[in-house]
Amino acid sequence: MTQQFRITLLPGDGIGAEIISVAVDVLKVVGKKFDIEFNFQEAPIGGAAIDLTGEPLPEESLDKCRNSDAVLLAAVGGYKWDSLPPSRRPEAGLLGLRAGLELFANLRPAKIIPELIDASSLKKEIVSGVDIMVVRELTGGIYFGKPRGIFTTETGERRGVNTMVYTESEINRIGRVAFETAQKRTGKLCSVDKSNVLDVSQLWRENITKLAQEYPSVELSHMYVDNAAMQLLRAPKQFDTIVTGNLFGDILSDAAAMLTGSIGMLPSASLGATGPGVFEPVHGSAPDIAGQDKANPLAQVLSAAMMLRYGLNQSAAADHIEQSVSLILQQGLRTGDIMSSGMKLLGCRAMGDALIQALEE
Ligand code: NAD
Repeated sequence: MTQQFRITLLPGDGIGAEIISVAVDVLKVVGKKFDIEFNFQEAPIGGAAIDLTGEPLPEESLDKCRNSDAVLLAAVGGYKWDSLPPSRRPEAGLLGLRAGLELFANLRPAKIIPELIDASSLKKEIVSGVDIMVVRELTGGIYFGKPRGIFTTETGERRGVNTMVYTESEINRIGRVAFETAQKRTGKLCSVDKSNVLDVSQLWRENITKLAQEYPSVELSHMYVDNAAMQLLRAPKQFDTIVTGNLFGDILSDAAAMLTGSIGMLPSASLGATGPGVFEPVHGSAPDIAGQDKANPLAQVLSAAMMLRYGLNQSAAADHIEQSVSLILQQGLRTGDIMSSGMKLLGCRAMGDALIQALEE
């Protein structure tokens, strides 16, 4: 029976429209092959939405997202909107989307693609075979904890305050996503905290340890965040799935991603307890190359593969996309950001066409 899914597309700004149109073509081809019908609807977000409505995330866009099975987002932002106050800027649209869809779990894979191993700043033997998934808590912790602000003390000195706070239910719901993600991968989960210093981390560790009893097939370990930062650079292959809070995850997911060296190749997923997830590249809107057919569409395409795997439960179709991406890289096809000598340079559209050919074969 044909499976049907409603997908909201949020192209946003800069290179967004170019890369998302490649991902849509890829999904159409994969849909035919795997008997999946996608009904696409587009909505404005970011600078494009500000120009149209004055708001970075119009209510109508959020409603469309809510009424879909998954959201495929490109990127927002650009020079044109840089002088607006923070709450009116394109990036506020992203925060609104995360809050509006209650996306508390952020999944960021960092996988070394053998053909691009030279792009890593680390030695080949250290990064070869790296395949890590960072599961970051996205809506709690120190970024949202109260009290927060800059206050003046009785002596007249100013004092900046943020509060790192997690409730047990917040820890358990991100914990479950992490255990389930680890189960779908190699079954190894490392929980990262700072429980030697922070009370909030002690509660984190206690609850993650308790949760492990429900997932006997997952091998759980714990690591302090300072050590995790070192180990990611020293011996990254020891990690499979990492789970951590908002602040530590923000930093470690960027560090893990950079083991791969190529920003144009990195996808991500943000998930809620129920309702649609948002799938988007890690990179921004690249205004410096927008409209020039120079963008690498593969992070967007790999985000569509994550959407199939984690949002729509269609892992065979996701595998097919990921294998086809590897295939065109093996053929030596490259966009400018991942170009090296002896390879063939293609634009965004031509890279998409090559991928579609590989998918159809
Ligand atoms: P960026 O990721 O847009 O660009 C950094 C560099 O990487 C640029 O040189 C760019 O040309 C290149 N690059 C990025 N993606 C590429 C791709 N797919 N193919 C080829 N090259 C690529 O980051 P930035 O320059 O710091 O930010 C530009 C705008 O994007 C800003 O307005 C920023 O706020 C926004 N931004 C948005 C998001 C998001 O939507 N999630 C994330 C980061 C930055």
